[in-house]
Amino acid sequence: MLIKLDKKCRKCGRDISNQEYEEHNGYCVMCEERLISKKEKINKKKKGNEISEKDWLTTLLLCIFTGGIGGHNFYVGKDAKGIIYLLTMGIFGIGTLIDLIDIISGNFKDRFGKRIINRKEQNISVNSISSADELKKYKELLDTGIITQDEFEKKKSQILNL
Ligand SMILES: [Zn+2]
Repeated sequence: MLIKLDKKCRKCGRDISNQEYEEHNGYCVMCEERLISKKEKINKKKKGNEISEKDWLTTLLLCIFTGGIGGHNFYVGKDAKGIIYLLTMGIFGIGTLIDLIDIISGNFKDRFGKRIINRKEQNISVNSISSADELKKYKELLDTGIITQDEFEKKKSQILNL
């Protein structure tokens, strides 16, 4: 009687049993293992989305004023890159310019691959939105006669820190 192996690995084409085929999503043990390690590498890349502790404004100013000698690279811990910039005047200004664009767009990374972003700008915009919303609420209360003009003015100066 012939033992029929009716499945083949999708990757290497090796004959495998039905059980192996199902347990490894259509691949043999070897290929599945390789696929998993590839996935892990992709996941590691995703870690590049972490946010750096480094200050964005400092990085930006260092790039503008000392970018030609790699100042911003030394600040974020990229010493080797900094030395290259120091020796080549920021790779003839091109490297510095690219970094400047990256910093402004929030894509510049520190030595750990963490992005340096402008946190203050985000905080300020969140705060101003919420105070505007709060003011709107009090304005409605004023318009509907629930609070007086005096009470509204008081709240307004409180919210705007006047
Ligand atoms: Zn295989």
